Amino acid sequence: MIKSGDDFDVIVIGGGPGGAATAGLLAREGHRVLVLEREKFPRYHIGESLITGALPTLEDLGLLDRMDQLGFTKKYGGTLLWGKNNPPNAQRSEEPAEGAPGPETWGFRFAEASKYEHSYQVRRADFDALVLARARELGAQVLEETTFHAPVLDGDRVVGVTYGQRNGQERRTAKCRLLVDASGQAHVLGREFDCVQWHEDLRNIAVWSYLQGCKRYTAGNHAGDILTENRPDGWFWFIPLSDGTVSVGYVTPVERYKQSGMSLEELYESEMARTKEVSKLTDGAFRASGFRTIRDWSYTCTRFHGPGWAMVGDAAAFIDPLLSTGVTLAMRGAAGLFEAAHTALTEPDRELAVLARYEDDYRAFLDSLLDFVRFFYNKSFSKEDYWDKAQQTVDPEKVRSRQADFATVLSGLTGMREIFEAAADEPHAPAGG
Ligand SMILES: Cc1cc2nc3c(=O)[nH]c(=O)nc-3n(C[C@H](O)[C@H](O)[C@H](O)COP(=O)(O)OP(=O)(O)OC[C@H]3O[C@@H](n4cnc5c(N)ncnc54)[C@H](O)[C@@H]3O)c2cc1C
Repeated sequence: MIKSGDDFDVIVIGGGPGGAATAGLLAREGHRVLVLEREKFPRYHIGESLITGALPTLEDLGLLDRMDQLGFTKKYGGTLLWGKNNPPNAQRSEEPAEGAPGPETWGFRFAEASKYEHSYQVRRADFDALVLARARELGAQVLEETTFHAPVLDGDRVVGVTYGQRNGQERRTAKCRLLVDASGQAHVLGREFDCVQWHEDLRNIAVWSYLQGCKRYTAGNHAGDILTENRPDGWFWFIPLSDGTVSVGYVTPVERYKQSGMSLEELYESEMARTKEVSKLTDGAFRASGFRTIRDWSYTCTRFHGPGWAMVGDAAAFIDPLLSTGVTLAMRGAAGLFEAAHTALTEPDRELAVLARYEDDYRAFLDSLLDFVRFFYNKSFSKEDYWDKAQQTVDPEKVRSRQADFATVLSGLTGMREIFEAAADEPHAPAGG
């Protein structure tokens, strides 16, 4: 039981992947950590397709074996029907092998990029509950059904929070040396400090539901792939989950949706009927859920830290679902913020410097993804153009093939020198090296 006025080293707002990972890593070092989570877990969340950039943090938390035990779908890469009409792959026969992606598709394998051969497609309720349970196991105190209300300030320094528990009348306070905002798209500190900057060119809307009875690719290791298929005014995701359902969503600019004159559900059905690969895989399937929708998600906060506070994950920024980078940003952000916060707590004089360094690193990674997403949204390019752009982004000296660079960007491993270099060096490692 937390008593009003209790002291913590760190209070984390939000027990999603970003908050839970930050809390777990800090608690493991012996810091006193409190997580305030508005919902009762397990709770629904969108964002089911993980890329391998999320795995180093999950590995550090000791969660990869548990993810295997939970039986999440293994995702070895992505199949794309994207960009200027690609001629059928010359290495394939006219008719693709039974169960193989269609002749106009292309894609990437995670193994091209790094030591991680596969990632996972996850039901987020289960995945998020797993990470939050691990934070508890590592020593963080977690209060569910508990909502952060406001920071407590001493001058311009955050020194605590006020919060309330569901069904409780009493508003409580707790003190902390560092407040972490991991509240996702609620971005509570971004609103508090008025520093949310929206990306007008990415004002999109998504509508999705869950289907049963879909076909899956059976050739090679494509069964767990995310399929991303473009339409003239948007794109579809097809994410096969381990319980046999498939998450199928459509994303389009808000303006195009308004111009269509259709309801979102009508637009989804009518666009789906015009797809090639998605139609092939959903032929004969039926909807096993209602529709869900979300819009206007793309923003970056102009500051990720201040005296006594920092943001991580969607609370700091969210780009777009297109490259499935959200959970990876949250997990990589958590690893970076953990390092900075640990130093700030043990050497308080260095707080400003280490939080600034955290922000610079996180922003550089984010900006490179944002730049790539904007380029990728231009569907008039060919796959070679996307490969070239990836090479300019991560490998301007052209050390590796441009396909490997593309796989690196889509793995969310940009800027992770040790993983990138280890994979690049492997075939050329000197004897005994
Ligand atoms: C349409 C769409 C599709 C997506 N698809 C993908 C995908 O395929 N792959 C991917 O990696 N990402 C995807 N994402 C992004 C992904 O969902 C997020 O980036 C990810 O969940 C961020 O994690 P987080 O921990 O920062 O925030 P969240 O997971 O949102 O967690 C924030 C937590 O904070 C809690 N909270 C909020 N306010 C308060 C408060 N006041 N007090 C206490 N608790 C609070 C919430 O209840 C929540 O549990 C998608 C996003 C969208 C919009």
